[in-house]
Amino acid sequence: MDQNAIKEAATLLRQSGKTVALTGAGVSTESGIPDFRGRNGLWSRYDPFEYGTLGAFLDNPTKIWGMLAELLDVVDAEPNTGHIGLSRLEEMGLLAGIITQNIDSLHQKGGSKNIVEFHGSFETFTCLGCGRNHLLQFVRESTMPPQCKSCGEILKPDIVFFDEMIPESVLQDTQKLLAGTELLLVAGTSCQVQPAARIPHQVHNSGGRIIEINLVPALHGLATVSLTGSFAAVMEQLVRQLEE
Ligand code: ZN
Repeated sequence: MDQNAIKEAATLLRQSGKTVALTGAGVSTESGIPDFRGRNGLWSRYDPFEYGTLGAFLDNPTKIWGMLAELLDVVDAEPNTGHIGLSRLEEMGLLAGIITQNIDSLHQKGGSKNIVEFHGSFETFTCLGCGRNHLLQFVRESTMPPQCKSCGEILKPDIVFFDEMIPESVLQDTQKLLAGTELLLVAGTSCQVQPAARIPHQVHNSGGRIIEINLVPALHGLATVSLTGSFAAVMEQLVRQLEE
């Protein structure tokens, strides 16, 4: 790995008045979660139009739960040293928060505190009948598809399906976190899915810098520093450099 790039990134982090991280599927692959969009990913085995929309869920929740049940294993995964590195940056006062496109809760498990889950989470489930909230543990102990404790309707995970809007409260939390951001640390995402893809442009247009951590650089023309490598390996080196 390019040591000069690591040093340059560490300098940017130290000098930044406010840094926010934007993370995607690539930060979780080293925790054993294949990128949903990649080879062996969920969407290579299930047609996203047939399985990934709220309309499909409402039409046949039992069928869609056949796929969603696989995510119960996904959320069993453990954070990797990259997730832990980001929580270390937060502890050191070098990171204000994380906006993640992942639904695996691995940033929470890695110790990070201030997290906006852009696409929701697989930790909570809402009854489409009465609105009652249920926790993951309840769903784990249920026979599929899981049904509401109160009214028996099928539960929907609090994730954002492809045809759903990002909830207004999440968009507001995102903008609150991004306000005044001088440095954006983009990790494990090529930023091709809207509306999260707009975030690097927003920071760049308001004069902020961008550090990118990706296996293959993707933010051409936007990133001040591109750290090429696995998220875990890069974060280990970056944290070591910052702790010196
Ligand atoms: Zn209910």
